[in-house]
Amino acid sequence: MYLESLTFTNFRNYSSLELPLGPGTFILWGDNAQGKSNILEAVYMLATTKSSRASNERELIGWEVFNDPLPAARIEGLLRRDGETTKLDVSLVAERGEVTAAGSTSLNLRKQTRVNGVPRRASDVVGTLNAVLFDPQDVELVSGAPSVRRRYLDVTISQVDRQYLKALQRYARVLTQRNHLLRAIREGKSQSGHLRVWDQPLVEEATFIHLSRRRMIEEMAGLASGIYGELTGEGEKLTLNYQPNPKELADIHIDDTEAVGGVIRDRLSASVDREIGQGVTLVGPHRDDVQFEIDGRDTGLFGSRGQQRTVVAAIKLAEVNLLVGRTGEDPILLLDDILSELDEMRRRRVLKTALASQQTILTTTDLDRIDDSVKLEARLLRVRGGTVVLCS
Ligand code: ATP
Ligand code: MG
Repeated sequence: MYLESLTFTNFRNYSSLELPLGPGTFILWGDNAQGKSNILEAVYMLATTKSSRASNERELIGWEVFNDPLPAARIEGLLRRDGETTKLDVSLVAERGEVTAAGSTSLNLRKQTRVNGVPRRASDVVGTLNAVLFDPQDVELVSGAPSVRRRYLDVTISQVDRQYLKALQRYARVLTQRNHLLRAIREGKSQSGHLRVWDQPLVEEATFIHLSRRRMIEEMAGLASGIYGELTGEGEKLTLNYQPNPKELADIHIDDTEAVGGVIRDRLSASVDREIGQGVTLVGPHRDDVQFEIDGRDTGLFGSRGQQRTVVAAIKLAEVNLLVGRTGEDPILLLDDILSELDEMRRRRVLKTALASQQTILTTTDLDRIDDSVKLEARLLRVRGGTVVLCS
């Protein structure tokens, strides 16, 4: 699959941009802070409906328009996939709400996603465009908090399984309600018998999420360990160690859905007093983790920076293969200034995948750091202060 074009309106530092693309490799070349990563962020947004880096999506709206009555940003992409063209767009509108007691105006952000002009829920859009982003912060995947790894699993699985994203959303709602009730019970405003209403849907969604993650991790482990071997020679072995919550789930056979549900239900009943005491649900996949281990040791704790980077490269390349396997199409590759960070062997392997992919968009500040083999094949786009000019 590939993007035929991208169009931005008041997105980050682009007040208006129309960028024709097409199959092949594109190099976004420009100094720091010119808007290279912003373009990759926009593609990621079309794929997942979420920003790859903003903690608050209002950051995406151009500063220039932020004092307008209705500040808004829009990203549109024309996607070519399976011989069909689909128009995807995400728009963000900041609506000013009530004046708060402190005298400031609250801002509500409204996000709308559309496919061919028709509004769709995020869970119906994700998976239309598949993208894999490599960026220097990816090392967090190995060395960061478990929530980073859960988010990564969630985004990856959602790209190939809409049911998964829907289950996640339902699970999050049930969790919020149940936590609310736990606090009400703690404060004597409700009774523990009422928990039963939430336990059944919680167990159902938790079971589905657990089994989906487990299948994904198993598949990814096989692919990633092969690629890690290629990247490092045969010496070290990479394994993925899923650490589900509750941990007893690791011993249950993957096909035994009943038993998985049973274990979660039992752990919930056994933890109910502690849960009421703390006012939060302590059992379930919102507490999962996955460890990336080299020769049985957690790379997050014991790995060198270089090993961590290599593990991440192996995981991302495995993700590309996994998406190709599950969808029959190449995902769009987004490489954010990573080639300069990699040693020769990893660089060659990443480039092999990049050049073989239907569409790759990469960024650099320095063209000398890009291999000639890539420069020969790629189109060069000069990025400067929110404008993009095609150079070749
Ligand atoms: P680097 O080489 O340093 O990674 P880059 O070309 O990738 O740079 P981007 O991250 O794409 O840079 O763009 C960053 C710039 O975009 C910021 O310096 C800022 O000036 C601008 N920017 C970010 N958000 C907004 C916004 N909401 N409105 C206007 N400009 C913004
Ligand atoms: Mg950048």
